[in-house]
Amino acid sequence: TEELLRRSDKMSLIGQLAAGVAHEIRNPLTTLKGFMQFLHQGAANKKEYYDIMMSELERIELITTEMLVLAKPHFIHYQPKSIENIIKSVITLIETQAIINNIQFVVAMEKHLPLVLCEENQLKQSFINLLKNAMEAMPDGGQINIQLFSVGDKAVRVLFHDRGHGIPQDALARLGEPFFTTKEKGTGLGIMITNKIIEDHHGQFVVESKVGEGTVVSVTLPST
Ligand code: ADP
Ligand code: MG
Repeated sequence: TEELLRRSDKMSLIGQLAAGVAHEIRNPLTTLKGFMQFLHQGAANKKEYYDIMMSELERIELITTEMLVLAKPHFIHYQPKSIENIIKSVITLIETQAIINNIQFVVAMEKHLPLVLCEENQLKQSFINLLKNAMEAMPDGGQINIQLFSVGDKAVRVLFHDRGHGIPQDALARLGEPFFTTKEKGTGLGIMITNKIIEDHHGQFVVESKVGEGTVVSVTLPST
């Protein structure tokens, strides 16, 4: 029965996801169809239409790209990697965006951290999702702290601490639900994907938040 339960849980999640994706993609498609018609009728403000169409296409692209992360590659190669290097390269990837938004990353890490068995790109993807959320929660900029330390001799923990607007209780309960977003241009897929990746790594993912004070996301991963 447990296996059955687990399977039916999975099915309903897939059903939810499929419905969500279809819905999220249908909206921009409807818009695109409408504008195609305007263009066909010889509309005057072509440039304006073009910009809207482009941004709708980009939205479809973003949603499909995020969904692809969920489709597992044939071979997931878990390899021992330095979490320190993964964090550093993630910071390099989003640094330009951080500078534009007046955000500083402050990294503190223990020396001689053990390696983590992981699929590096997936872990990077999940950290990027978390740091993007942290930045988006601080529209006026500020400091984001990243801490790395070992927990016992079997795990490594990464904390992402922002001083953004925080997450109210009701939203906290819905975190990780597909397409749950409070942002005008959000996809509501980031946390769900991050959750899935950490789960695949047999890790733990915990979010603590206080409205008006900020959010701490903790990721704990088994180490070698
Ligand atoms: P998206 O970023 O596209 O909205 P996510 O799944 O990444 O989707 O996040 C879902 C929601 O959780 C966000 O819309 C936001 O309301 C909330 N959230 C996540 N991380 C944070 C954070 N660090 N600070 C404040 N709110 C957050
Ligand atoms: Mg996000």
